[in-house]
Amino acid sequence: MLIVHKYGGTSVGNLERIQNVASRVAKAKERGDDIVVVVSAMSGETNKLIDYANHFSSTPPKREMDMLLSSGERVTASLLAIALQAMGLKAVSMTGRQAGIKTTSAHTYARIEDIDPANMHSAIKEGNIVVVAGFQGISEDGNVTTLGRGGSDLSAVAIAGALRADACEIYSDVDGIYTTDPRIEPKAKKMDFISYDEMLELASLGAKVLQNRSVELAKKLGVTIIAKSSFSDGYGTIIGEESEEMEAVLVSGIALDRNQARVSLRGVSDKPGIAAEIFTALAHEEINVDMIIQNAGLDKKTNLGFTVPQSEGDRARKIIEDFGHDIDSVDFDNSVCKVSIVGVGMKSHAGVAATAFTTLANENINIEMISTSEIKVSMIIAEKYAELAVRALHDAYDLSN
Ligand code: ASP
Ligand code: MG
Repeated sequence: MLIVHKYGGTSVGNLERIQNVASRVAKAKERGDDIVVVVSAMSGETNKLIDYANHFSSTPPKREMDMLLSSGERVTASLLAIALQAMGLKAVSMTGRQAGIKTTSAHTYARIEDIDPANMHSAIKEGNIVVVAGFQGISEDGNVTTLGRGGSDLSAVAIAGALRADACEIYSDVDGIYTTDPRIEPKAKKMDFISYDEMLELASLGAKVLQNRSVELAKKLGVTIIAKSSFSDGYGTIIGEESEEMEAVLVSGIALDRNQARVSLRGVSDKPGIAAEIFTALAHEEINVDMIIQNAGLDKKTNLGFTVPQSEGDRARKIIEDFGHDIDSVDFDNSVCKVSIVGVGMKSHAGVAATAFTTLANENINIEMISTSEIKVSMIIAEKYAELAVRALHDAYDLSN
């Protein structure tokens, strides 16, 4: 088998931990698999380099930032290769370019366009453990590029795809994906398996484990990800293709997003084009609108509500206030949150949403907005009930067992 391992910043955070990773890789190699390792920079390193650059300029040129930031991953890759060789193993480190990773030329946020795996293949064939510096590639014009924060996960998945690896194991300090945030619900359980789509919807639960873009890419390439801890020996959580078994489970996890603000417009003129005008104005300012509800009009007036990220609330407010005409009154509420239940089982089972609404009703929590997709029901509620709602829903779908 060919397995790609990816170790995050905490897992390679100091020399002792790099040695720990070397030992784990050595063990995997002993089992007879071919191993390609993708590494992040040591934790804090990328931020430190950004601070260094900001010492000279608040707007350092992006090309130079890529030269600078890509060095963090190169340090870890070479140190790990040295550690492996010192243990008597054959290992070789590679930069993104040496690993054949070709990207767009959008510095600091490049996209991987293609991977030429020839170098990696021949190094593997010679019996090497290949250690690749994550988060980086080379543009067509020969410049070093980086892939955006958390981009080593993306490197690992793309490499796994290009090498047709059997799995991409992503190691962090967390042993998998949980049914909800264990800091809110201590009874949260590690999941054994979750589909790509569920993982994407539950992004907030995986935020510390893997980058969302890498899940999208894994889905596209059909790469199976296994999220594991580099500090223990569990099986982790498999993130892969949806299966029939999974549909038996109604709800897989509960996500909470506190970064929400609600805007309610009352007495909006009920005529064609108003919604278009409002949301075009918001889009012009690059404000991401999440949920939208509009009531049936009465007396040529209607009510319209929507949510935006809390951090964009003030800007949204300004735009709406400038709007003036065609709206009677506006109400802003920053203290709301979004609770979501996610599960592929919803596709084939009725009543899943009703259970959520009943559960919140039993706790006397008012639902201010609702939106649904095929595998998700999201509810906007007062932020003070966030934790209560998460725990109640976790119980209602029996996720602790
Ligand atoms: N070192 C980069 C970052 O901190 C990439 C990564 O760790 O995945 O964002
Ligand atoms: Mg990371």
